[in-house]
Amino acid sequence: MVTDAVHDAGGLICLQILHAGRYSKQDGLVGASDIPSPINRRKPRALSTAEVEHTVESFANCAALAREAGYDGVEIMGSEGYLITQFTATRTNNRSDKYGGSLENRLRFPLEVVRATRARVGPDFMIFFRMSALDLVEGGLNAEETLLQARALEAAGVDVLDTGVGWHEARVPTIGYMVPRAAWRDATARIKSAVKIPVVATNRINTPELAEELLQQGVADLVSLARPFLADSQFVLKAEQGRADEINTCVACNQACLDFLFRNKVASCLVNPRACRETHFPVGKAARAKRVAVVGAGAAGLSCAITAFERGHEVTLYEANDAIGGQLNLAKQVPGKEFSETLRYFRTRLDRSTVRTKTGHRVGADELVQGAYDAVVIASGVRPRLPDIPGIDHPKVLRYDEVLSGTKVPGKRVAIIGAGGIGFDVAEYLSKSKGGAGTQAFLATWGVDTLGMGDGGLVAPVTVEQQRSIVMLQRKPTPPGKGLGATTGWAIRMELARRGIPVLTGVSYQRIDDEGLHILHEGQPQLIAADHVILCAGQEPVNALRAELATRGIEATLIGGAERAEEIDALRAVDQGMQVAYAL
Ligand code: NAP
Ligand code: SF4
Repeated sequence: MVTDAVHDAGGLICLQILHAGRYSKQDGLVGASDIPSPINRRKPRALSTAEVEHTVESFANCAALAREAGYDGVEIMGSEGYLITQFTATRTNNRSDKYGGSLENRLRFPLEVVRATRARVGPDFMIFFRMSALDLVEGGLNAEETLLQARALEAAGVDVLDTGVGWHEARVPTIGYMVPRAAWRDATARIKSAVKIPVVATNRINTPELAEELLQQGVADLVSLARPFLADSQFVLKAEQGRADEINTCVACNQACLDFLFRNKVASCLVNPRACRETHFPVGKAARAKRVAVVGAGAAGLSCAITAFERGHEVTLYEANDAIGGQLNLAKQVPGKEFSETLRYFRTRLDRSTVRTKTGHRVGADELVQGAYDAVVIASGVRPRLPDIPGIDHPKVLRYDEVLSGTKVPGKRVAIIGAGGIGFDVAEYLSKSKGGAGTQAFLATWGVDTLGMGDGGLVAPVTVEQQRSIVMLQRKPTPPGKGLGATTGWAIRMELARRGIPVLTGVSYQRIDDEGLHILHEGQPQLIAADHVILCAGQEPVNALRAELATRGIEATLIGGAERAEEIDALRAVDQGMQVAYAL
């Protein structure tokens, strides 16, 4: 049993009880009222009074079954816009019975759930309640009501108050990489100051140092982490043993965890493809140790080299640049993208391995032939595509890598050719105001009331005056940013739209000259007067070495962008690096 396994390993385990209410993806869904959710096409039916009372008993019954199954406690999910929050907020509760109307009536359902649960499980069984520290939706609770709820839950018998932030339909990002680390600490601290029971801090806590800081500063008594354990299942052990620098840090990209789940795929992790695929990538040595050359120390090459080392192979890693990282060195420049942590992780792993890392060394076919390797893996990456547009060699044309690396600084008027992932990254990089990186700036621009007194904890967003005028363009007529992640793309698009950055779709590029970028848009000629035109028009593979080796009778394996530049990103690169290392 799961519970036995956890107990045998010295842990305790609680079961979360979650009723999705109007977020349910099944027909016949129910809610506090029949008000549909903007993120679910199904309309809920309002529970009758008797059904609400029955649901209270169902929560309690579930907790009793959890106790029987060996759990040490339960967590009642009362945040994120699920059924319990649908009762507490006027946004979703227009009932006229004892469960609707006044705050007292709207809090009746969660309080009855807690009391009924306590009555069934007894005093020596933990009841966590995950309450909404901030609803972040109109018609949600304000701070005063939230604190009232916290005290009432404590009085009803809750042992620990976990905190959740924002309903799923909130138009404020709460866990994506654009959210500064521990951005919600003040909302948690408010709850802690209102009750005597332990309070848990949550969301965007991804290092042991930060977790410790929150505890030391009295923000919370406990911290909760989820995604960081996908990124590194040894997180706690490494922290405990003073090896925090070896932790593979969650970069809050959501690309392989939540985005996979929303596509009905098994969750995994961008920085750790082994997550949830432990049987596919079993820890252990390969049947025969080989001498392996990996050419290129970007995301794909690093993943391949380190995994091959773990598998017992003797690895030499060649990198033409002076530093490892490849495109990760560009991606880490984008505000919020924490790939410098990924690079720190790989660097530490390399330093503590026997991988021979040769940076600043452009290896050629001759050297690889002389090396007599059993296997050669080419991870030499990509180069930016230079589209065939008259004037492409005009001095005002810059490539995205020149801009993100800081080698070239664009002027005040910028046109971006290409509205894919990198186009959005460059727009974000160029439009983020200098003082705009901190938590307070994030909260202000997303309209979060730092005192929580506004309806749902919201106020009018602060508009930041832009230093540059930026226009993004793409040839396709389809909505831009389609390829961005399901759970982060909406926030990126919203942020740039709020900064007044338009995306022109269905354009055709005519020429670039001293005036700027000439296009046809909706059949009409148009000039985008720009000081600089930045190319974010995709990439092409860099892999000539493979053909050279083939003429010498060496069959090398291509991975990452060197294999297929189209839609290459860190997710595919890291994953393929590991796959190929296992296939050696
Ligand atoms: P991309 O997403 O495929 O975008 C390339 C852009 O260039 C498109 O807008 C495309 O639009 C345009 N383009 C392609 N060929 C062109 C040509 N010959 N002339 C002019 N424009 C051309 O590729 P990317 O931006 O290089 O990103 C690479 C990968 O990394 C993608 O898979 C991307 O999703 C991923 N990535 C994701 C994120 C994120 O999720 N936040 C961030 C960065 C990168 P038209 O063909 O319509 O003009
Ligand atoms: Fe974190 Fe991204 Fe991994 Fe999800 S996929 S656990 S967000 S690093």
